[in-house]
Amino acid sequence: MNFDIPSELSQQINSAHDFVKAQLFPIEQQILHGDFFAQESQLNQLRIEVKQLGLWAPHMPKNEGGCGDSLMQLALLSEVLGQSPIGHYVFGCQAPDAGNMELLHLFGSSDQKQQWLKPLVSGEIRSCFGMTEPENAGSNPTMMSTTAVLDGDEWVLNGHKWFTSSADGAQLCVVMAVTDPNADTHRKASMILVPTQTQGFELVRNIPIMGDTGSGYFSHAEVRLNNCRVSQKNLLGEIGSGFSLAQQRLGPGRIHHCMRWLGICRRALNLMIEYSKSRAINSKQNLSQMQTIQTWIADSAAEIEAARSLVLQTAWQIENKGFKEAKVAVSMIKYFTANVLQQVLDRALQSMGGLGMTDDTIIAFFFRHERAARIYDGPDEVHKMVVAKALLK
Ligand SMILES: Cc1cc2nc3c(=O)[nH]c(=O)nc-3n(C[C@H](O)[C@H](O)[C@H](O)COP(=O)(O)OP(=O)(O)OC[C@H]3O[C@@H](n4cnc5c(N)ncnc54)[C@H](O)[C@@H]3O)c2cc1C
Repeated sequence: MNFDIPSELSQQINSAHDFVKAQLFPIEQQILHGDFFAQESQLNQLRIEVKQLGLWAPHMPKNEGGCGDSLMQLALLSEVLGQSPIGHYVFGCQAPDAGNMELLHLFGSSDQKQQWLKPLVSGEIRSCFGMTEPENAGSNPTMMSTTAVLDGDEWVLNGHKWFTSSADGAQLCVVMAVTDPNADTHRKASMILVPTQTQGFELVRNIPIMGDTGSGYFSHAEVRLNNCRVSQKNLLGEIGSGFSLAQQRLGPGRIHHCMRWLGICRRALNLMIEYSKSRAINSKQNLSQMQTIQTWIADSAAEIEAARSLVLQTAWQIENKGFKEAKVAVSMIKYFTANVLQQVLDRALQSMGGLGMTDDTIIAFFFRHERAARIYDGPDEVHKMVVAKALLK
């Protein structure tokens, strides 16, 4: 393994870092706590600046309109962008769009690419991904109830989804639905492209997340599909390939998420350090001179470095040996990094006392929304089971 960073990539990372710090840190709170749609033009202006810097859509190949970054390059960039909750959005590589773009790039027909991939990469439209259902365990998606039945040359979809992130204002939903209930378990479902304007596509509500409902990109929807009819041509990939496509989507996605979480960790650690240095705790000392705080700082730094090495090693494994070889490592980084994130955020919040509970710093937003890191893309327990089973075997 060689983790040397070529000078071109170093420049890209530094320039992204400067942009995030100068342009995003000062406005992120206003964006996060206001109405998304009312602030979209401000975000679009920032997106234009990112395009001018040549840093737009790093996850997409150059011929599709992106920067063509490798997985390792993207991992390092994701860490920088993760420092602000609006970082990935402003750079055009936000979840769930990034995963959907990767799917369309790899498996979309030329018509699908023209209709959906092009405007997604350019940032003209947004998309969402509808797999999880309130009535069934998302940890075992083979239990899915949503169906898509062929009627003439149309798919008719019926079902109930939730946690369809960013559905509010999205133009496209990539829906996982059972297309053949009699097929083998992992061949039952397919992915179907459903425009959200389709009759019967009902956005029931944006779900409050620990008291924060959000809007637009920053929201998670409950959705009903009531006899939604779309063309047969809206099938993504082959019939029955839904789970295999989902795996392809999640592999690199977990590297991006983990590095984004490590960006959050760094931000939280920096804020904890700054606050502890500035907070007088008695007439002679400030908080940073207390051993407990020093322990929190030292533990956080070591945990961040350990998680970072593990994630980069896993990215290297995927790039050099393929996803199959890295499957256990991918599970390991998912729960390990998500728990480091939770610990570091908790220490940062605690170190700030009452201030940590307020929205006067970014910590409370991260604390509220990133608790989910231990749940989405597979809860801790499922990933630990994968690792333990491999070791037991
Ligand atoms: C903020 C957020 C955003 C999301 N975005 C999306 C999205 O865009 N699209 C989408 O389709 N889904 C999305 N999800 C859904 C997410 O993928 C599911 O919540 C996740 O897969 C878990 O499924 P579940 O909620 O049904 O929990 P369940 O499957 O009911 O599991 C509940 C709990 O049981 C435990 N558990 C589960 N399996 C096992 C096991 N085998 N052994 C021991 N314990 C176990 C775990 O602790 C788990 O947390 C999102 C979720 C959140 C919180």
